[in-house]
Amino acid sequence: MKERIERLIQLLSGKADCALVTDDINRRYLTGMKSSAGFVLVFPEETYLIIDFRYIERARETVRHCTVIEQDVHVLKQLDELMKAHGAQTCALESMSLTLEQAAYFRKLKNVEFLTDNTLSQALYDLRTVKTPAEIEKIRAAQQLAEAALDSLLGHLHAGMTERETALALEYHMKRHGAEDLSFDTIALTGAHTSMPHGVPDDRVIQQGDFVLMDFGAVVDGYHSDMTRTVCVGTPTEEMRNIYHIVRTAQDAALAFARPGITGKALDAAARDIITDAGYGEAFGHSLGHGVGMEIHEYPIASASRDTLLAPGNVVTIEPGIYLPGKFGVRIEDFVCITENGCEDLTSLPNKLICV
Ligand code: ZN
Ligand code: ZN
Repeated sequence: MKERIERLIQLLSGKADCALVTDDINRRYLTGMKSSAGFVLVFPEETYLIIDFRYIERARETVRHCTVIEQDVHVLKQLDELMKAHGAQTCALESMSLTLEQAAYFRKLKNVEFLTDNTLSQALYDLRTVKTPAEIEKIRAAQQLAEAALDSLLGHLHAGMTERETALALEYHMKRHGAEDLSFDTIALTGAHTSMPHGVPDDRVIQQGDFVLMDFGAVVDGYHSDMTRTVCVGTPTEEMRNIYHIVRTAQDAALAFARPGITGKALDAAARDIITDAGYGEAFGHSLGHGVGMEIHEYPIASASRDTLLAPGNVVTIEPGIYLPGKFGVRIEDFVCITENGCEDLTSLPNKLICV
């Protein structure tokens, strides 16, 4: 955590005298402590965590690299005094998460000039986008839980179950295996519903011969996993097999291509070209992937509009799909960590079609 703050200070050097971090996830990233409120005030010389009575005991026990101060009713005054003590004249705020109301509140401090462009938010995202081995371990642990949950579900997934029951079973198994939370609301769709990439599970019943598309993830120590598998209950038709094969081939191509130094756009194209060449370009209407970490969607993005280069330590999903309205859809999602010379697939379950 100390190194993260040191690197943030380097990124802000010459741009702002201090930074005020209030976003829950960024605050956790810098302090290691989960809370729903609090302020991290970063100066080059010292970092403060100002946090209220509900969290103060835990903060004093666990956050060793910051000076922990209990928040009182006059938090603006507390901030003002610290800024004066450190001689700060400019303070960076988080443009990507602060509300207009919060920004107006901080602006009541007249002795300091606030920087409200994306300097601070971008610096934090840039740091978070490159994961350390310790962060990768947490993501891997989250993925292991999700795969264990799928394994538990596949043992009893059958025709007659509803989408809601399927989603609930995955969620139950993830928590039972030790997930701190779910990465997002579990998607479990069946039959014609699978053509809606982010459909919401309802009371539709799985029929023999249906595809069941499941997109889900677990959280371990603040880090998310993300995977999608489309399985068949019973025997798929020739068309279902064919579409699955195209999506799988597209995913394999992107998995083989993912490495540092390529753009998100190039990675997207590696999969998209295969789907387009097979005649289904129009049926793949979303981008190939997104970053995963302390949030389920973060940087880098693998889409046709992204020129940012992938770098070692990036974690990105590879999730091509083909969606045929009124018929069915297939999405297969793995996520990888970019390494020095390629990538490591953090998803261990193979992507071949599973029939139960
Ligand atoms: Zn997903
Ligand atoms: Zn995803």
